[in-house]
Amino acid sequence: MSTINPYLVSRMQSFGSTIFAQMSELAIQTRSINLGQGFPDFDGHEHIRKAAIRAIEQGHNQYPPALGVPALREAIALHQKNFNNLSYDPETEILVTAGATEAIAASLLALIEPGDEVLVFEPFYDSYHAVVVMAQGRITPIPLKEPEWTVDFDYVESVITERTRVVLVNSPHNPTGKVFTEQELKKLAQLCIKHDLIAITDEVYEHIVFEGNHLSLAQIAGMQERSIVISSAAKTFSLTGWKIGWLCAPKDLAQAARTTKQFLTYVNGAPFQDAIAFALQGGNSYTDLIARQLQGPRSVLTRSLNEVGLKVCSNSGTYFLVTDVSTVTDEDSMTFCLKLPERIGVVAVPMEPFYKTPQSGRTLVRWAFCKTPEAIALAAERISRLKT
Ligand code: PMP
Ligand code: GLN
Repeated sequence: MSTINPYLVSRMQSFGSTIFAQMSELAIQTRSINLGQGFPDFDGHEHIRKAAIRAIEQGHNQYPPALGVPALREAIALHQKNFNNLSYDPETEILVTAGATEAIAASLLALIEPGDEVLVFEPFYDSYHAVVVMAQGRITPIPLKEPEWTVDFDYVESVITERTRVVLVNSPHNPTGKVFTEQELKKLAQLCIKHDLIAITDEVYEHIVFEGNHLSLAQIAGMQERSIVISSAAKTFSLTGWKIGWLCAPKDLAQAARTTKQFLTYVNGAPFQDAIAFALQGGNSYTDLIARQLQGPRSVLTRSLNEVGLKVCSNSGTYFLVTDVSTVTDEDSMTFCLKLPERIGVVAVPMEPFYKTPQSGRTLVRWAFCKTPEAIALAAERISRLKT
């Protein structure tokens, strides 16, 4: 996808600009409905936005403390206790970051020596691979087998080597929508303990679950002490532009990530940190909104894709649906997605960039339904034109 840039280090040459940025640009250029990049076309709750305005007016506009504002760290600890029954000390075990993106980067940059290997379930969120490469590590993909996205744990064990240091688990999982079951997490925990692996868990979709329940790998016995648990306000509160994320981990792991984090952004978003503290203190009242709001759009988009022969793969959470387009076209998913705006005025994301070997995702397309019912109804109508 990318052309050679003579200034860019060789190991980053293949990354170019993200598929999300490319597809959003295409949506703007073609005035299409953007079911590509995963951001809502509506804002987070007014009370939370007003809390940020209050914080600005009250003068919370300078660098916050390096670990994050105390009220937010306390609110994160409360949230972990209430939802996951996990205890963290806000003084030493919680770090506020510039989105989950920075928490992931800080954690990997802290833990990975050149040549270390990181197990990643594939397809995977694009920043994982890029950061592992920045840290001069290597990813070891673990295939999730479509359409049920099952994991072969014998295979997982067979690819663990002396150099395997970390397993990165994203549940609920982007792009597949898979929510890892307790049984799967227990099997993974066994391997982590047996092979002394550290787990980095990306739980940014923890409150966007439609079937089953979200469980953190850190909740499995023996795992909290070897896990960095990452989440973010972006998806839970529909405030993706605020870039407030966090990680929770035992003291030494949190301290390791803090060391790298302080030289990435140092700190960010002081007044937004206050507002997210307010949101998390609200318990279920704000965290429950998003899944309720998206129930309708999820059903409508699922139905409309299925009706044109784009059978939606198994999914239980996140705001993404995956289809295999080989049932309706011979084109690869990149070509299909590049032509889609012109054909029907809709943008979706080809899944090649979510695979180490892009060819593996050549028939898969991701569709985001984090949009208003009106936008999804219009998208559904346009998708129905694919039938003819
Ligand atoms: N992890 C996953 C799986 C994501 O989908 C995203 C995108 N929201 C992120 C991390 C990044 O989150 P943030 O916007 O908080 O940096
Ligand atoms: N997480 C969003 C997605 O998966 C995109 C965020 C980004 O553009 N980096 O679509």
